[in-house]
Amino acid sequence: MSDFTFPSSETPRGLAVLGATGSIGTQTLEVVRLFPDRFDVRALTCDGNVELLAEQVREFRPEMVAVGAQERADEFRTLLPNVDVEVSVGQDGLCAAATRSDVDVVMAAVVGFAGLVPVLEALRAENTVALANKETMVVGGTLVNDVLDHHDAHLLPVDSEHSAIFQCLAGESERTVENLILTASGGPFRTRDANTFDDITVEEALDHPNWSMGAKITIDSATMMNKGLEVIEAQRLFDVDVEQIQVLVHPQSIVHSMVAFADGAVKAELGVPDMKVPIQYALSYPARWPAPHERLDWAELTRLDFERPDTGKFPCLRLAYDALDAGGTAPAILNAANEAAVGLFLNEQISFLGIPRLIEQTLGRMSVVESPALDDLVAADEEARRRVEERAAAPSN
Ligand code: NAD
Ligand code: MG
Repeated sequence: MSDFTFPSSETPRGLAVLGATGSIGTQTLEVVRLFPDRFDVRALTCDGNVELLAEQVREFRPEMVAVGAQERADEFRTLLPNVDVEVSVGQDGLCAAATRSDVDVVMAAVVGFAGLVPVLEALRAENTVALANKETMVVGGTLVNDVLDHHDAHLLPVDSEHSAIFQCLAGESERTVENLILTASGGPFRTRDANTFDDITVEEALDHPNWSMGAKITIDSATMMNKGLEVIEAQRLFDVDVEQIQVLVHPQSIVHSMVAFADGAVKAELGVPDMKVPIQYALSYPARWPAPHERLDWAELTRLDFERPDTGKFPCLRLAYDALDAGGTAPAILNAANEAAVGLFLNEQISFLGIPRLIEQTLGRMSVVESPALDDLVAADEEARRRVEERAAAPSN
């Protein structure tokens, strides 16, 4: 990741928000509300929540929106019959939003594999990408890095751990980095007896102790697959060896991550758990804009706890390291199997322990394509989803 600056702060930044109705998308628009003169919202997208999208369009007046399917587009039109806004559909719509020439920065806050192609297209169009969608780097990080190498395009991490590491690395030489230390809250089941994991309900898994997030990432946090995906994301973003990436459970989520250097010094980024801070940093970079986000009360902070993750209890973390080790399409298989399994769990079609089981089976049965092109990643994604669905429907499950 190279240094660069946005256009002068007097010129508003043209902004596209992919996944505007989600947790990151709505918090991005909260940041925009704090700095109305610094942004021109040009494009907003969502999958299905067109009621909220219509409200956002009334407020932010983008030139275009994109929605998941034609029926949603028709519904959106009936909600705003007299508003002059272009409406696009599906992946083409996401890519149209991401590649607009009046956009300076694309907030990539779609969830899942669907984020990959729009991010690649945004970078090819030399728009800056603020990346929340970690699945993009997990599945296609090598393709993303290749586009970054060949275009005048920039990627800024939004995920709190990666934003923390990015901030700790500012002004440092990559050669002096000893370790990246990713912190993890441990999720809602950190202290729960593993013998009761098969009884975990969807409601329990959706109840995260520290962060309020979309459903998929909340389940990923409960299985600790979220940290596994973040290990892969960190490897792709910061180009370190996998052995240099450590995970440390830190239940308070105050230390957002750390970098250990060759001379024994360690830098950390701390704050209250509030995604608006890393979102804003990605949008203001390299500047810091004064903002009223909640501050830490240091005197109230009586302790910070750290412990090693338990990969016996949370096998998803180990599966992610295995997939990173295997390389090629393995992370895409891991990601797709996880997305499919989490969907099945949320629909109460499989148990909590079914998630790692289905991912492990799928990873074990699919062959890995080395140095994959986009088509290979799409094929691996589709096959892994199909296998998970079939396996879950089989009578033994
Ligand atoms: P969310 O489910 O709340 O929102 C997802 C958004 O994407 C919605 O606007 C939805 O309409 C849209 N969307 C969903 N599927 C789509 C598809 N197939 N095509 C187009 N649009 C689609 O999710 P979120 O919690 O905001 O997370 C978004 C991304 O950011 C995820 O990759 C997540 O891992 C990452 N992230 C989130 C947080 C957080 O605090 N929520 C923190 C770090 C990283
Ligand atoms: Mg994170």
